Amino acid sequence: MDAVADIKGRLDIVDIVSEYIPVKPGGSGAFKANCPFHQERTPSFYVSRPRQTWHCFGCDQGGDLISFVMKMEGMEFREALELLAQKAGVTLPAFDGEKASMKKRTHEVNELAMKFFKATLERAPEAEAARAYVKKRGLDDLTLDLFGIGFAPESWDALSKALAAKGVSEQDMLQAGVVAKSERGPGVYDRFRNRVMFPIADVHGNIVGFTGRILSDDKKEAKYVNTPETSAYRKSAVLYGLDKAKGEIRREDLAVIVEGNMDVVGSHQFSVLNVVASSGTALTAEQLGLLKRFTTNLAIAFDQDNAGNAATIRGLDLARAQDFNIKIITLPPEAGKDPDEAVRKDPQLWRDAIKNAVGIMDWVYRNAFRNRHPEKPEDKKLIARDILTEIKRIVDPVERDHWVKKLAKDLDASEGALREALQGIKKQEIGASRAPEAAKEEEKEEVSKMNQFEERVLANLLVRFELLKQGMEEELLAVDDFEHPEARGLYEAVRNAYAAGEMAPDPLAAGQAVRPPASLGPVEAKIYDSSAFLAEREFQGWTLEQLKRELKTGVSQLRLQRKKRERERLEQQMREAERLGDQARIAELLSQFNALT
Ligand SMILES: [Zn+2]
Repeated sequence: MDAVADIKGRLDIVDIVSEYIPVKPGGSGAFKANCPFHQERTPSFYVSRPRQTWHCFGCDQGGDLISFVMKMEGMEFREALELLAQKAGVTLPAFDGEKASMKKRTHEVNELAMKFFKATLERAPEAEAARAYVKKRGLDDLTLDLFGIGFAPESWDALSKALAAKGVSEQDMLQAGVVAKSERGPGVYDRFRNRVMFPIADVHGNIVGFTGRILSDDKKEAKYVNTPETSAYRKSAVLYGLDKAKGEIRREDLAVIVEGNMDVVGSHQFSVLNVVASSGTALTAEQLGLLKRFTTNLAIAFDQDNAGNAATIRGLDLARAQDFNIKIITLPPEAGKDPDEAVRKDPQLWRDAIKNAVGIMDWVYRNAFRNRHPEKPEDKKLIARDILTEIKRIVDPVERDHWVKKLAKDLDASEGALREALQGIKKQEIGASRAPEAAKEEEKEEVSKMNQFEERVLANLLVRFELLKQGMEEELLAVDDFEHPEARGLYEAVRNAYAAGEMAPDPLAAGQAVRPPASLGPVEAKIYDSSAFLAEREFQGWTLEQLKRELKTGVSQLRLQRKKRERERLEQQMREAERLGDQARIAELLSQFNALT
């Protein structure tokens, strides 16, 4: 796609990164910062202006401008490209144009509606009761502003008139769901009336819908009215507050899931920022997919009414199958009925409750005993059933054994009886069906990394053009001196590029750094980039003499390792030859072995 090159050409990665995190100059056209993708105190996140790339030595991630925005915003490639295209003033080729523009109009209509509701709450005389309500709920102006909270007046057409005055068509109002079609004839009427309005944003902050809450609970009307499902709003695909919480979720590597919107709003008001609300106890696949962009650790706070309910735990099945680490938050009795109440009583109560969240098994165990009497046979049976159902899901036999033993003791039952009961419980499908994605990621982790000598020698070789030139002309290194396939691949590619006259000093970088050749494949380019970052970090301010000495030492280390590898290979072949009694082969291998040392 040409647009990608166009966008990259117009933007500077250092500027874009600086919009998100503070960066400091790190020499040689490099900039450093504390990594936004993992927790750290000293910066190991580097950005290179000459190469327009980034790399973190702490979490070993890196890439270009687009991958940075994707990770930072939790966006797909196309979304990141659109955001950057806008910044660069580049028009992207149309992409499912009609649907996209309909969605965009819906966002705009919702944005206008939010402004109308906000202005009404702030100024309208008929919003007096609403102002009293938000005050009673303890919402300050900053919080009202941050969440765009407003008020829909008691009227059938106040919003639709205001929107029409801004040129919004009835069709677009209907499409956004802020009005409904009149049943008694033509025209539309306002969907939300006499309600406190909470805008619902998608992960990028676009307003996709609203939740309207009645002012007093004793009315006969529905407590909440929501935007119906529209092209922009699907309840199952949204987590309330994620657009505001995502940065903190990534930094803390933990998402706190609550049930109510007010729990999110209250948490934010008191600076607990990694909190989002699901609209039900079961997290949907789409919601989990969104969360996975930022973390795989969840701490879940259930309504006290639902706590201990077996259905509540089943609602987590999908998350467990996708290998999320799940902990359950229990509010202490003095904290009140929900996180909003807790945080308003004392923010520390809520923070501690999050910190003290426990694993599912611990939580189930504790809950099974709650309000029950283990000495009563009927209760005993219920406790055992709840806990054994959960034990059945445990894959590890040792861990399972631990819980059975503990239960036998606490319940004053025989282990044998419990194990028999365990046999009788139908095996849940959980644990058997691991998400393929998670399995793939594990595989990736098992690929070994280059050893530190290989990394260092490559970096050393690329830090100054003069050094590279000398190394190439003296044939200082052979491909076989490297063990790791990536290191071998990069070295070979660099050698070929040098032979083809493609390697040159980088005119943009200070200190005669090497300009990456254009002929590198994507894999080599990636390793080249991390080597260059390593060079900038490790060899900053070194003299050419120092660099040469370092390279010599590094090369001799590689040679030693290579010899060791070859010895091991010969030894293995020798064992094989001995097993087969192949005397000629043994003699041949022996002479090879001797030649080595
Ligand atoms: Zn990092």
